Amino acid sequence: MTDRIADWTRGAEAIVYQSCGACGNVQYFRRSFCAACGAPDPLEKRASGAGTVYATSLVCRAATPETRAHVPYNIVLVDTVEGFRMMAHGANDLSIGDSVTASYRPFAGRLVPYFEK
Ligand SMILES: [Zn+2]
Repeated sequence: MTDRIADWTRGAEAIVYQSCGACGNVQYFRRSFCAACGAPDPLEKRASGAGTVYATSLVCRAATPETRAHVPYNIVLVDTVEGFRMMAHGANDLSIGDSVTASYRPFAGRLVPYFEK
């Protein structure tokens, strides 16, 4: 079992991904094996937070009472420079193809990655 680096889902200001030592595949969702070649224990690494906007989706209707104060907010898919794609919050003025960097903002009671230009 490899050591786990604390990331934003555990209250740290960090985005963590996994990199396979055998084939070089990168993946965002934590698994105990490489999704590409099946090798065990991919290495955990801290992402730089830099990337490019792949898609945006402005949310205008709150899904829960806790998120109502944030409407409208932007949900973006970002292709990170490390090579994985992740969903996160983003500035409302982002367009596809924009270069972005991650910071962290409170959303509905927790700190979440927030991308902006
Ligand atoms: Zn692999």
